[in-house]
Amino acid sequence: MELLKDKITKEGRVLSDTVLKVDSFLNHQIDPLLMKEVGEEFANRFADQVITKVLTIESSGIAPATFLGLTIGAPVVFARKKKSLTLSDNLYTSQVYSFTKNETNDISVSKDYLKADDNVLIIDDFLANGEAVKGLLDIAEQAGAHVVGVGIVIEKGFQMGGKALREQGLRIESLANIKSLADGKVEFFD
Ligand code: 5GP
Repeated sequence: MELLKDKITKEGRVLSDTVLKVDSFLNHQIDPLLMKEVGEEFANRFADQVITKVLTIESSGIAPATFLGLTIGAPVVFARKKKSLTLSDNLYTSQVYSFTKNETNDISVSKDYLKADDNVLIIDDFLANGEAVKGLLDIAEQAGAHVVGVGIVIEKGFQMGGKALREQGLRIESLANIKSLADGKVEFFD
């Protein structure tokens, strides 16, 4: 998606060889016009699928997921992150390790909002090692829901998450795929 790649090139800040900061349009301030285009692009890429629910994780997945939900008319559920969960039998829970924050979060989704007859599209802002997506897949599996695929705003293709998940047969569509962040520069796959 050229608009997104231009935005990353202009406004992204390379913090290290593995971490990109995009606070000006995705992770802190949101660019709603860009997010609208992102939502429409996800809808186009998965136009061949029936989607009854968009599933993401707080906080930075919520904006792109919501614009997708608006475009296709499906509700958006975001997994909540908590340090420790109060015991509840009405939650699906999983664990997600974040290498950018070096911490493990319990994530949870209420059983009220994900059901066995749902066709789920998982959305997230970044794909790195695939931990967040794996946690969301685990939650969808606990619900008995069918996952039609995964939409990612920015994949870092030099990290292994995307490769491993695709090898499992999962359909992943990323709108920008980064080849390298070496020498402070963002290089994309074609
Ligand atoms: P994964 O779980 O695939 O290892 O990492 C994806 C999650 O970590 C995303 O939900 C995102 O919030 C965060 N993340 C991973 N890499 C980056 C990065 O380079 N920049 C930012 N801003 N977030 C990242």
